[in-house]
Amino acid sequence: MDLAPLIRNVPDFPIPGIQFKDITTLLQHPKAFRFIIDGWKRRYESQGLTAIVGADARGFIFGGALAYAMDLPFVPVRKKGKLPADTICEEYELEYGTAVLEIHRDALKPGDKVVLIDDLLATGGTMRAIANMVKRLGAEIVEIAFVVELPPLKGREKLTEYPVHSLVEFMVE
Ligand code: AMP
Repeated sequence: MDLAPLIRNVPDFPIPGIQFKDITTLLQHPKAFRFIIDGWKRRYESQGLTAIVGADARGFIFGGALAYAMDLPFVPVRKKGKLPADTICEEYELEYGTAVLEIHRDALKPGDKVVLIDDLLATGGTMRAIANMVKRLGAEIVEIAFVVELPPLKGREKLTEYPVHSLVEFMVE
């Protein structure tokens, strides 16, 4: 299934010069959503996963659905200040300045085998921070999966220790 036509390009959002890849239009197509989740389920079902980790916020949509489909725990990584219990955190670079992501300290443990999920790989800074936290908690990262990848932004170069998988590529920056 060709997912590219279902993803809306919004120029100059949230700031001038960014081509925003809007996955809400894809979510209007249940068959496309099912194609993504069922495909990932088949991809990972023999890998002995113990949890799915999803990135705030669109990673919750795809990661949450995958965890449900695979009958696995879902672990949310959230922007700073949202998780209520004891957390660990990592800072990462944004277009301008930095931001902080958090995960509950008791969400993963050594021996866990996880897949990390987000909607889109751009520069890789977000997922690098998430992978760092997951490693600090002792879990094994089996793969990092995205719906969309923007290869010109070279996100894979920040994630070279891990297998990276994506379903659709756009060559715009
Ligand atoms: P990065 O850390 O640069 O890989 O950025 C990835 C995160 O920012 C993901 O959570 C994406 O949802 C969001 N993001 C970055 N660039 C875009 C874009 N051009 N269109 C849509 N979302 C984006």
